[in-house]
Amino acid sequence: MNDATLHSVVVPVFDEEPGLLNFHGRCRAALEGLGEPYELVYVDDGSRDGSWEVMRGLAAQDPHVRLVRFSRNFGHQVAISAGVENAAGDTVTVIDADLQDPPEAIPELIARWRGGSDIVYGVRAKRHGETRFKRATAAAFYRLMRWLADVDMPVDAGDFRLLSRRAVTALLSMPEHDRYVPGMVAWIGYDTAIVEYERDPRVAGETKYPLAKMVRFALDGIMGFSMRPLRVATWLGVAVSAAAFVLAVVLIIVRLFGDVAVQGWTSLAVLLLLLGGVQLVTVGALGEYIGRIHNEVRGRPVYLVRERQGFATDGAGMASSDDLLRAHRRDSSSGPIV
Ligand code: UDP
Ligand code: MG
Repeated sequence: MNDATLHSVVVPVFDEEPGLLNFHGRCRAALEGLGEPYELVYVDDGSRDGSWEVMRGLAAQDPHVRLVRFSRNFGHQVAISAGVENAAGDTVTVIDADLQDPPEAIPELIARWRGGSDIVYGVRAKRHGETRFKRATAAAFYRLMRWLADVDMPVDAGDFRLLSRRAVTALLSMPEHDRYVPGMVAWIGYDTAIVEYERDPRVAGETKYPLAKMVRFALDGIMGFSMRPLRVATWLGVAVSAAAFVLAVVLIIVRLFGDVAVQGWTSLAVLLLLLGGVQLVTVGALGEYIGRIHNEVRGRPVYLVRERQGFATDGAGMASSDDLLRAHRRDSSSGPIV
């Protein structure tokens, strides 16, 4: 067993009680087929249904299961980060609990890792059973992100991906509180590969990403990985000032040499509203960045753990709740944590 490779699978869970057993069955079958040691790290992101009881049942029967339970809901991206942090594998694969991403594809991701890639993306070739609105907004978002972001992000790759140990180490060395994992992974920059798969409908339950959460996720991505909104604000200012200058010259010429009295009220009102709008949007964009700075400066833990199960180091606090924070504090000088 000593030289064998350990594969970890990280599963964020939020109110997934109806489909969880089914998920575990399929995931286990896929992993057993590998013939190598594996572990399943479930992260309960403050579920309000019976998910935790189901997970405890799984841990009681299956020695491959590790459980982390948050004190409350911290969000999908944080749950992923915590799972990755608690995983011990040479490969760490993140997969959603709703079976939209097929566990059967995991061996394929691992094969690409064997081929030398540090990051293997599951890319959605097709999406079944999602509303046209969700598909359209997702497609638009991934393309917008690609244009906006300062790092090269793959289009249509969700959170189904494999990380090598050194990619995990890189990810854990990033202490930010607004954790937009797709961007953080893209930032790493090691060799990547792609495995295409078809995205299935959810087997049970409902999406946990209503519109408001999707917008929040999009903003995290844009604000965390791009200064472009600030630059757009600057360019808007330049454009408006230039337009105002041209208009002023024209109006002065008309006033001096023409005999038309310039009619003013409507144009003034429109200009005033336009300028007010531009300014408010700009202040809003600034505010978004400042809010995020505030969030970072407070330096709170990224998440808190209520309990853990199935880890060899249970209770010993080896990889406990606020490792990310401690890394943050300890670590302005030294290298990555782990
Ligand atoms: N999830 C989570 N915390 C949340 C929302 C979602 O851990 O606050 C989990 C959820 O249980 C699922 C995964 O993240 O395993 C993806 O969520 P969902 O399927 O609702 O997103 P969608 O596929 O609709 O984008
Ligand atoms: Mg889903």
